[in-house]
Amino acid sequence: MSEHLSISKPIEFRERVAIVTGAARGIGRAIALALAREGADIIVTDVLPTEQAVAKIRACGRQALGLHCDVTSSADIATLIERAMGEFSHIDILVNNAGIAHRSGLEDTTEDMWYRDIDVIMTGTYRLTQAVFPIMKQQGYGKIVNISSVSGKIGGAVSKPTDTAESLSGRTGPAYATAKGGVLAFTKWVAKAGGHYGIYCNAVCPGPVETEMTRGFDYSVESLPIPRIGQPEDIAEAVVFLASPAANFITGQALNVDGGMVMD
Ligand code: NDP
Repeated sequence: MSEHLSISKPIEFRERVAIVTGAARGIGRAIALALAREGADIIVTDVLPTEQAVAKIRACGRQALGLHCDVTSSADIATLIERAMGEFSHIDILVNNAGIAHRSGLEDTTEDMWYRDIDVIMTGTYRLTQAVFPIMKQQGYGKIVNISSVSGKIGGAVSKPTDTAESLSGRTGPAYATAKGGVLAFTKWVAKAGGHYGIYCNAVCPGPVETEMTRGFDYSVESLPIPRIGQPEDIAEAVVFLASPAANFITGQALNVDGGMVMD
């Protein structure tokens, strides 16, 4: 059996290099820290300052490079890849996590809002994946994990604003649900293209997680089978599994990490 089709083995990231987008805070930061804890060196990218996340990774003994990267900018992505290869000479893991969410209804969704969600979430995932794919192909190894959402499966998770003065519905809007659904289709496409080369591509679909994105919204989590709101670490540990050699026979899947909200 060729090297890049090796069977599953325990989670271990020594000598592995990971890029995590949108990793300055929230779920992305938790993912970066969890991968580092298991031995990976991390390229922390975001439009926000990355110093704090970089310092935490270095504190656990791993190398970390913090880079400004707007996933809507092809120029930023080209610079990111150049810096990453210059510093580490390989890229083994890509986590497409950067995201934004409009919470508009259909009639209130402007074309600008629509294209913005699609650009950051769906096209951003495409841009980064396209940029690392040839590198992973040449290496004969790569793990790509895309952060989608249960919204991409069920058409938007229902919530209500906790502040009664809030005029918008709490539910994420049609652009967000569409972008996240697109990420799921893209995940499967890449999985089919990459498998022969040792490139794996999976998605994680978080339910409600306590971050800046959900602050001020109530998801009635008490009615979930696991009756609590998710924490960034809940998502991070699922990503660690999918990005690891423990998942060497898993590709093209969308794993719900949502307290049992969606069972499909
Ligand atoms: P946060 O807003 O805390 O983190 C997202 C990060 O991505 C922020 O630092 C944000 O910066 C950054 N970002 C936004 N746009 C870009 C861009 N163009 N290029 C690079 N970085 C960018 O949210 P979460 O941690 O909650 O979300 C992380 C991912 O998880 C997202 O894809 C989200 O859709 C997904 N998700 C989250 C859920 C939740 O309940 N929290 C549920 C399901 C999915 P800035 O603040 O400046 O925009």
